Amino acid sequence: MKCTRCKIPAVVALPSHNAAFCKDCYLLFAQRLVERAIKEHQMCDHADRILVAISGGKDSLALSWQLKTLGYDISGLHIDLGIPESSPIARQYSERFCDKYEIPLHVLQMTDLHLSMKEVKKRVKRPICSVCGQVKRYFFNKFAVENQFSVVATGHNLDDETSRLLANVMRWDMDYLHDLGPVMPAKKGFAKKIKPLFRLSEFETANLCFLAGIDYGYAPCPYSSKASFPVYKNLLLDLEDIQPGRKIHFYDGFLKRGRKGFMPMDDEDITVHPCVECGYPTSTGQCGVCRLRSTMS
Ligand code: SF4
Ligand SMILES: [Zn+2]
Ligand SMILES: [Zn+2]
Repeated sequence: MKCTRCKIPAVVALPSHNAAFCKDCYLLFAQRLVERAIKEHQMCDHADRILVAISGGKDSLALSWQLKTLGYDISGLHIDLGIPESSPIARQYSERFCDKYEIPLHVLQMTDLHLSMKEVKKRVKRPICSVCGQVKRYFFNKFAVENQFSVVATGHNLDDETSRLLANVMRWDMDYLHDLGPVMPAKKGFAKKIKPLFRLSEFETANLCFLAGIDYGYAPCPYSSKASFPVYKNLLLDLEDIQPGRKIHFYDGFLKRGRKGFMPMDDEDITVHPCVECGYPTSTGQCGVCRLRSTMS
């Protein structure tokens, strides 16, 4: 197997792209996919101050590495969720990576805010992943807005995006389908959010880490639930095996032709006010995280 680009022996085959690459050409290929995503969706430019959500896993580290390599002005935010077994490892990998690549890293420790997921899980009846996701979104946005970051970047890859899309199509969840996409523009107290890795599959992101020498951590979260996304991820992987390229066509087709069918008639329908306690935009008087905090105190 030879590299499609330079014809020396290839180290990775990508049936979805009908190509194979040597190490250097693979890194160039991955970089081009990220550059293309950024350009075609006007995600950010070199004047932006970008806050990267860094979990310590392969996606967030590959994203940080790639944005740094492309010369963007990035800082990381790691949220230490206070989950026994997995959080200390995730934090260690995040700190080590940012140290090595000289990326400023901010850490918010949920234990200090009485919001450690260990305690939240004991007190709250809702599924822990839904509360955890809400807490993470809240702090990434709040930190970005309060510290003048113009953009929040997350490491969602093609498998994350297509499995979420398929799950929401199966439920015909109109609100979620409307919100799906690689860019969420800034509005009403929310920072702009971007997903520059959306053209890379999970396999391609893992390969990027491997070939770029990025040391990423993997400690499965003990609270990881039976969420529906992994089921859809596996279905799409099987489909991709039979029809290489199917995932990116599914997602691109949704962005180009499907998504407009789910746009709300009037975006102003939902009235957003600052939370009475913390100022975070919310459609009720008190935002979800302040309500959670009152439950915890
Ligand atoms: S698996 Fe659930 S609880 Fe664990 S980190 Fe992810 S969202 Fe949070
Ligand atoms: Zn090559
Ligand atoms: Zn609040």
